[in-house]
Amino acid sequence: MLLENKVAIVTGGGSGIGKSTAKAMAEVGARVVIADINSNCGNVVNEIPNSVLKICDVGDENSVQDLVENVAKEYGRIDILVNNAGIIVRKSAVEHTYADWTNVIRVNLTGTFLMSKYVVPVMIRQQGGCIINIGSLASLTGYKNAAYAASKAGVVNFTRSLAMEVAKYGIRVNSICPGVIKTELNRSLMEQPEILAKLLPKIPQGRVGTPEDIAKAAVFLASDWSDYVNGTSLLVDGAFLSGITVFD
Ligand code: NAP
Repeated sequence: MLLENKVAIVTGGGSGIGKSTAKAMAEVGARVVIADINSNCGNVVNEIPNSVLKICDVGDENSVQDLVENVAKEYGRIDILVNNAGIIVRKSAVEHTYADWTNVIRVNLTGTFLMSKYVVPVMIRQQGGCIINIGSLASLTGYKNAAYAASKAGVVNFTRSLAMEVAKYGIRVNSICPGVIKTELNRSLMEQPEILAKLLPKIPQGRVGTPEDIAKAAVFLASDWSDYVNGTSLLVDGAFLSGITVFD
């Protein structure tokens, strides 16, 4: 199997894209640690073979350090890290409070940094590993939720920088930039027919994405099938970005 016996940590694995990614990785042989802040998502382990749930706040250094030490001790190695945990504040730039801004940056960007900072030494010791950071279409374009877009642009450039730094240890670092994916994060928007009516004509594939669309890309990036793919960001958006034209 593609990820036979690989040990994977998926942050924010309790729902949405993280949950589907954890499931897809387990289905191809990985042993998965779901790291989530939400203790109510305990049921996910019943749906995902070979998985455990560990509570962690990716924006809190002590919590991240405890998690990584605990997983490295219990499993002896960490082959795959998916930095997926993310939040959004739906406000314009000037409406963001200082707390809104710092919280989004703390979870989305600092969380990606902290998890990588503590997992990389484990991967260096074992001379190999793979990190996948979940960015966004908003990593590449402007977006009406400014802290979110800034954090996700940071994730993509952090990916490039870390890839340069750790390639010599056999560690690959890539990001996935999802387009619009139907999950809890945007359920309130996706359930409004007038929003869908405006959105769908702009997506050349004619549909919003599913968490499984992203999970399949993550399995590819975690596997040997992407051996020479490093430091890149993979856009998974149904050609949304390609379809944006100045003139129709
Ligand atoms: P989701 O369903 O809300 O899942 C995010 C998970 O992360 C939740 O279980 C959440 O717990 C957890 N989480 C939040 N803060 C955390 C923290 N500090 N530490 C650990 N876990 C934490 O969202 P999703 O749509 O699957 O999003 C997953 C990733 O994809 C995010 O990085 C998001 O920005 C990115 N993305 C999503 C879309 C989209 O259209 N859905 C598009 C582009 C990128 P709670 O339930 O307690 O908050």
